[in-house]
Amino acid sequence: MSSESYLVIGGEGFLGSTLVKALVARYPEATVSSLDIVQRQFPDKPQWTFYSADLTSLESLATAIKACGATTVFHTASPWTGSGAELCEKVNVQGTQTIVDACVQEGVKKLVFTSSAGTVYNGEDLINVDERMPFPEVGLDPYNVTKAKAETIVLSANGKGGLLTVALRPAGIFGPGDRQALPGVLDVLKSGKTNFQIGDNTNLFDWTYVDNVVHAHLVAAERLDKKVPRESLDTRIPPVDKDIP
Ligand code: NAD
Repeated sequence: MSSESYLVIGGEGFLGSTLVKALVARYPEATVSSLDIVQRQFPDKPQWTFYSADLTSLESLATAIKACGATTVFHTASPWTGSGAELCEKVNVQGTQTIVDACVQEGVKKLVFTSSAGTVYNGEDLINVDERMPFPEVGLDPYNVTKAKAETIVLSANGKGGLLTVALRPAGIFGPGDRQALPGVLDVLKSGKTNFQIGDNTNLFDWTYVDNVVHAHLVAAERLDKKVPRESLDTRIPPVDKDIP
């Protein structure tokens, strides 16, 4: 039995549930747990434990972290894009601070946070930007503004009480279990709203398959405590292909 224990906050969601299953497959000896405010994967699975909790409660989080002995926490929970400012502030900002506090209090070693590419969207086309792109002065909406604040909370906690942190910024995620993107497109189709077009239909948008986003989370956690010399990292920005249709 491995001493590693992985806790996925938001583990009943689209990305979180895919990550839970990938953790079980990748680390069969480890303990894997899912924490969420809603349980969607009935009946309980023998391969992982479900903790019912609201991430804004320090007490509930600390109890779950202690119970499963979490060594690595993945924070994938968030309200949806388009949610109101109050909910986004409560879950993404106060909730993320609560997660950091719980991790430090309970001696968790690693925290991997799912941010969003929308945190740096400023209304202009963004081509081949990377993590050096600053947050815009005025964020897109409450969801993206609070995801940016959450990211800052997570990254500035790096090293606190020995906790190592990292944030990933996926763009649109698609794949089995998607509850937002494809259902939204299908709703438009079903409601016959397809004769409206915004823009000239040439805009590009990044999409990543859910398994690839999960893989990024696994690799980020694995590498977080490995010292990789900066010069060995490939930081080149690929050339922009202006002819992409
Ligand atoms: P999802 O809604 O399917 O999953 C989020 C989960 O968080 C849900 O199961 C929900 O019940 C849980 N949750 C929400 N509030 C909670 C609370 N207070 N306490 C405990 N659990 C709570 O969303 P998803 O599409 O899987 O997105 C996962 C993450 O990826 C989110 O952080 C989101 O911001 C980010 N993201 C998603 C996309 C996308 O295209 N889906 C793109 C970029 C970033």
